[in-house]
Amino acid sequence: MATIDDISVSPDELRDRIERLGAVGERPAGGLVRFLYDDAWCAAADLVERWMRQAGLQTRRDAVGNVFGRLPGTTETERTILTGSHIDTVRGGGKYDGALGIVGGIAALAVLKERMGRPRRSLEVVAICEEEGSRIAGNLFGSRGMLGLTSAAETARLTDPDGVSVVDMMTRIGLDPAAVPDAARRDVDHFVELHIEQGPVLDGTGTQIGVVTGIAGMRHQLVTVCGQPDHAGATPMDRRRDALQGAARMAVMIDELARGTGEPTVATVGQMQAWPGSVNTVAERVTFSLDLRHPSDPVRLELLSEIEGRCRALAEHHGLAVEIVDRWEEQAAQMDAGLQQVLADTADDSGFSWSALSSGAAHDSQLWARHVPTSMIFVPSVGGRSHCAVEYTPLEDCVRGATLLARVLYRMAY
Ligand SMILES: [Zn+2]
Repeated sequence: MATIDDISVSPDELRDRIERLGAVGERPAGGLVRFLYDDAWCAAADLVERWMRQAGLQTRRDAVGNVFGRLPGTTETERTILTGSHIDTVRGGGKYDGALGIVGGIAALAVLKERMGRPRRSLEVVAICEEEGSRIAGNLFGSRGMLGLTSAAETARLTDPDGVSVVDMMTRIGLDPAAVPDAARRDVDHFVELHIEQGPVLDGTGTQIGVVTGIAGMRHQLVTVCGQPDHAGATPMDRRRDALQGAARMAVMIDELARGTGEPTVATVGQMQAWPGSVNTVAERVTFSLDLRHPSDPVRLELLSEIEGRCRALAEHHGLAVEIVDRWEEQAAQMDAGLQQVLADTADDSGFSWSALSSGAAHDSQLWARHVPTSMIFVPSVGGRSHCAVEYTPLEDCVRGATLLARVLYRMAY
């Protein structure tokens, strides 16, 4: 009788595909640019569709450009277990983020089909069209499409920073923007995503597999600090209402508060802009961004109100005004407890070391988890580096992750 030991993904093919997909959209200086619906994106979608066909899967594209490879089950029901990840990248991104979940998913379904035959429940791998938000602010466009959360009206409003509309982008490559709602599907019972960790935990502890417990919730805010523009030479220090000094103190306070709260709290001030922005004028107005994340929504909300209170106190002390505007909110997501157990048991049975960890980075799984039982497998990122050209996961870790995915899918579908 077949056992999970009969299911192993081939290292040579996985290496070859990671390299080939990682060359699509590569810039001469290093790092990938593969943005939604651009030429590199189209070439990558064609490539993975070809690999899906070679694996003997039934291929199809939906209305938003997600690419699917299906291994149909033997039961009458049309229900589906879905695996996969995103095909787009950040600017200057690495070749593992997103890509591993796609090539690993194809490899997993290929080995299952070859060694185990037809599953009882249908299995499908997807190359998700957009996750990174690199080109449009409609974050998770691919998963939102599949979950029926996009509309033709919303699509008509979306543009990239150069003013190119999503309608024009889709039309250029033969997709019908009005058909976007047709991407919705109601047959997905489970979503399982293989992904690199993008942080230092697994690599630092020498652990082979991460069983993800949840994904941190986050809020993006824009903080505006207003003071008074004055002459840099003629205004004594004690007479100033310097918006930039106030904003800088707030940024330091936010960093210290996050450090003081301890892991896994993370807070980032990633943008800051000053007006009028001249060397010899005290800054009148400064805006800065805040990105705050924590796996517990109540803790995160308490920290946000603490930050707001301290910003107001700092502003008052320095004679400034402050306004805080919410820009984006993503609630924390819990991975399915039953699926976490399947992952952990299968890792144990395979002799893979694993640990449970929560993800600070956002993923498609965050959205899926709100609709269907969802789980994520992490493999190590060397040095915790990601979203950059040096992003690297050793081949044996990629193979282990894809093999675990295949074995988990076997237990779920056969
Ligand atoms: Zn990713």
